[in-house]
Amino acid sequence: MKRIHNFSAGPAVLPQAVVEATSEAVLEYKNMGMGIMEMSHRSVAIVDMFGEAKSNCLQLMNLSPDTYDVIFLGGGASTQFAMIPLNFLKTKADYLRTGTWSKNAIKEAQIVGQVHIAGDSSDGNFNYIPRDLDFSADANYVHICSNNTIYGTRWNEFPNVNAPYICDMSSDIFSRELDFSRFDMIYAGAQKNIGPSGATLIVIKKTFLTNHGKDGLMTMMDYNTHVKKESMFNTPPVLPVFVINETFKWILDQGLAKLEETNNRKAGKIYSAIDNSGGFYIGSVPNKDDRSIMNITFNLSNPELEAKFVSEAKAKNLDGLKGHRSVGGVRASIYNACPETSTSA
Ligand code: PMP
Repeated sequence: MKRIHNFSAGPAVLPQAVVEATSEAVLEYKNMGMGIMEMSHRSVAIVDMFGEAKSNCLQLMNLSPDTYDVIFLGGGASTQFAMIPLNFLKTKADYLRTGTWSKNAIKEAQIVGQVHIAGDSSDGNFNYIPRDLDFSADANYVHICSNNTIYGTRWNEFPNVNAPYICDMSSDIFSRELDFSRFDMIYAGAQKNIGPSGATLIVIKKTFLTNHGKDGLMTMMDYNTHVKKESMFNTPPVLPVFVINETFKWILDQGLAKLEETNNRKAGKIYSAIDNSGGFYIGSVPNKDDRSIMNITFNLSNPELEAKFVSEAKAKNLDGLKGHRSVGGVRASIYNACPETSTSA
């Protein structure tokens, strides 16, 4: 089977072992005479698999199931942009505006209530992480996006806040060791670091939901519905959750510390090629402390040269390097499953 160097921003490369386990499960799951896509989500085998995925996730985050719930929903991270304010925005919420995805989250929250922008890097076209922060004393929650997929920045240090803390980790979840217990809610579309598109991981602190959730919501929009039914209120994305669980096992096998070390090394190789290119490649994030280790964005001197670079790279089996359509340039997305060999010269 041919495997190219895949730098796609998502859906993205998955670990080879996970892809193999998935192809087997699609043909026949656990010697049951049917594939995983053909089984009831309420069968014991699938309910068990969801339980395992939940427990593997909490193990990776070093969180207790007594304190946190884990659910898997459809609708992508974008649906969370809406569900979060519906469930938790009573009067005012603080948002950090650091890129397209946080802007999209802000837009949804503004439909529901008052939004205070507590930090903003739009004046530099999002090429840095803001340090001049101004949080409200009375916010219902603070929303942050840990890694800005399109602009190639990330929060190296998360700011301290005095309100429930919600983090969109879609593009860097499990790329580094973190104190996950700082957050009351973490969510991530699966299609970058933990699986295929079609499922969103949501980790939510039980006390946050009970003490801060709003009443009277439509059933599917209410986190309580999904927590109470353990992601099985309606038919969940079974195959994506299987792939996510296999990826969790793959991450657990090596541990977050080692994965982080490898990720730093991979990103370091590309950044040093950019920094040592004598200006041929121009990194788009000037402050090294703000650089993402998942999405590396850079430019060449003009768009024609960038297009040539992308097409010549593709001819050499390096795929998915074109920058996001909104910003142009070049972007190498090197998520956890991107092999180190793909980042070597
Ligand atoms: N947040 C971030 C950080 C993202 O990178 C993306 C998608 N690339 C989203 C949210 C939106 O995710 P989805 O397409 O799953 O709705």
